[in-house]
Amino acid sequence: MNAEEAWVRAVVWQGTETVVVEEVPAPAITDPHSAVVRVLASSICGSDLHLYHAKVPVVPGTILGHEAVGIVEAVGERVERVRVGDRVLISAVVGCGLCQPCRALYPVGCETISVKVFGVSPLLPGTQAEKVVVPYADFNVWPLPPEFSDLDALLLTDIFPTGLYAADNARVSPGDVVAVIGCGPVGLCAIQCAHLLGAAMVVAVDQVAERLRWATRFGAQAVANEGNVVRRVQEVTGEQGVDAVIEAVGSEETLRLALDLVRAGGRISMVGVLVREDVHFPLGAALLKDVTVRVGLVNVPRYLSQLFALVRNERLRPREMVTHTFSLSDAPRAYALFDRKEDGCLKVCLRP
Ligand code: NAD
Ligand code: ZN
Ligand code: ZN
Repeated sequence: MNAEEAWVRAVVWQGTETVVVEEVPAPAITDPHSAVVRVLASSICGSDLHLYHAKVPVVPGTILGHEAVGIVEAVGERVERVRVGDRVLISAVVGCGLCQPCRALYPVGCETISVKVFGVSPLLPGTQAEKVVVPYADFNVWPLPPEFSDLDALLLTDIFPTGLYAADNARVSPGDVVAVIGCGPVGLCAIQCAHLLGAAMVVAVDQVAERLRWATRFGAQAVANEGNVVRRVQEVTGEQGVDAVIEAVGSEETLRLALDLVRAGGRISMVGVLVREDVHFPLGAALLKDVTVRVGLVNVPRYLSQLFALVRNERLRPREMVTHTFSLSDAPRAYALFDRKEDGCLKVCLRP
């Protein structure tokens, strides 16, 4: 390794709303199952904003990011499926691929790996960097067909699998009326996936006009979160009742709204991240409505082959949601823009 390869640039969390681009030691193969990937593109997610605002515990110096595509630069001696030079997407959620939950495609339950998402702890440095080391590469990186653009692949690393997972967890089936609360990138993916699973109508709720315009573009009926939202949704649906609600914000207020919106006997699927211990959920009201609530973190590999087929056949065009591309060095500006939803910013790509 020559001198300039000993260091790479990475986006590092320093404090609340303070991220900087720093030179860090270049990642290297850590064990025989890992691979080093040179990042071609990474992106910023609503989940990164929880760290940005220090709403979840974060250690200063943590390299951020969990969404990336890149070229495999080195592989450990036990890596078999992935080769140096492959262009790959990296799953945001990692597992060992060998334990029982991983073999059932539930890496969130992996019994080998403790930190399961890149960029939330120094134990698994993030993807907003020039290079990243991927543990258990055979399970966590997916070689890309040549016709796949970097941007299409980038949105399959986390948010499209999350959208499909959200709709799947909501048990969306043909003819359903579905409400999606939160029209950030994740909510917009959920809207598209609810349609794919046969929703007759999707109602989208947000408080930012630009985000509601995006929801309309994906075929949803937009309702602003102001005044009597429950009444407005009932009107928009022609009093049909909402069979399933997808929560894609991650707040107590929107979880409560999900319960108010859903019909008796309906389903709530929560993918918004709300990790506080003191969350109040009105079980009494839920009991009287006989609702099913499902909440979880996406098991990315469960959904990738389906999503690959949908993208290959242009049923989904993930790249359309990327509104901004910045150089990695501009990450502080990119974070601020995405956080404040300025300049129509929906999804930001960072290019090293
Ligand atoms: P984002 O911050 O861009 O989007 C959030 C959206 O919610 C915004 O459009 C915002 O205007 C809207 N919103 C905020 N408060 C609202 C309210 N009171 N009523 C209605 N709308 C409101 O983020 P994103 O990238 O779309 O991510 C959304 C959530 O999904 C985050 O909590 C993120 O952590 C989570 N997430 C979860 C998983 C998972 O596996 N469960 C995976 C990826 C992201
Ligand atoms: Zn993400
Ligand atoms: Zn495992």
